Amino acid sequence: MEKLKVAIHKLTSCSGCQLAFLNQGSGLLTLIQYVDICHFIEGGIDNPDMPVDIAFVEGSISTPHDLERLKKVRENSKLLVTIGACATSGGVQALRNLTGLYRSAADMKAAVYASPDFIATLDNCEPVSSAVKVDYELWGCPVSTQQMGRFLSQLLLGAEPMLEKEKLCMQCKRQQTVCVMVTKQAPCLGSVTRTGCGAMCPSYGKACYSCYGPSEQPNCRSLSNRLQGLGMVDHDIAHRFAQFHSNAPVFRKEIDHWESNTAEGENK
Ligand code: SF4
Ligand code: SF4
Repeated sequence: MEKLKVAIHKLTSCSGCQLAFLNQGSGLLTLIQYVDICHFIEGGIDNPDMPVDIAFVEGSISTPHDLERLKKVRENSKLLVTIGACATSGGVQALRNLTGLYRSAADMKAAVYASPDFIATLDNCEPVSSAVKVDYELWGCPVSTQQMGRFLSQLLLGAEPMLEKEKLCMQCKRQQTVCVMVTKQAPCLGSVTRTGCGAMCPSYGKACYSCYGPSEQPNCRSLSNRLQGLGMVDHDIAHRFAQFHSNAPVFRKEIDHWESNTAEGENK
C-alpha cells in the first residue's frame, strides 16, 4: 500500500494541538508505517511547500502572513483538515473581534508593546474556513490524541470519518457522571457543547466551559435562561460563551444578545 503524504502546518496558535501527534508516543511508530510525514516543524521536518494528500492545519488567520501561507497549503493538499479551536472557529485569539466586550487588537497592541507599529496583525481573527475550503474539522482546545488517532485510522481504512458532534450531556449519561448543574448549580455549558473530551470536567466535579465548541442543534438561549436562573447577570452570561469559541456563529449570536444588554464599557 502506498503511504499517504501528510503535513502538519501551524498558523497563529499555541502549538498545543500539534502535541496531539507527538503525544501518540509509540503509536507514532505505527503511524509512520502508513504515512510519510512531510512537514511538521514541531517534529523537526521542514518542507512547507511539499504537495501532500492530507494537510492538518492548526491556528487561526490572525496575520497577513497566515492568510498567504494558508492559500499555499490549500493549493498543495488534496484534503485539508483543521485541528483545534483556533483553526475551526478562531479560538481564543478571536476575542479581539468582540470589541464591545473586550479591548480591540489595536488597544491590546498599544498596551503590551513599546513599539506596536512593528507588530503585523489583522484587526479581526478568523477561522481557516473563512478563507479556503475545509474538508474536515476536528474541534477542541486542544484536540485529543485519541480523537486524532480515531480520525486517522478511519481515513487510512478508507472509511468516511465520523466526527463527534452530539451534546456532552449524552456522554455524562453514558458514563454515569453526576450532573454538576443539577447537584451544584454550576454554570455548565455541556448541553450546547460537542463530545470528544470524555466529559473530563464534569467527571472531576467541574462545569464544562465548552473547549470543544458548539454541538449539533444547540439551544443556547434556553441554556442562557437557565444560567440566569442560577443568578448570573447578562455580562457574565456573555463572558461564559466567550471563552474558546466566541467566533462560532451560534455562540457569537448569544454573546451579542447578552452583550447588548450590558452598559457600554462595563466589562473592559
Ligand atoms: S486550539 Fe487551543 S491548544 Fe490548540 S493551538 Fe489553539 S489555543 Fe492551542
Ligand atoms: S454536568 Fe454538564 S455536561 Fe454533564 S449532564 Fe450536567 S449539564 Fe450536561
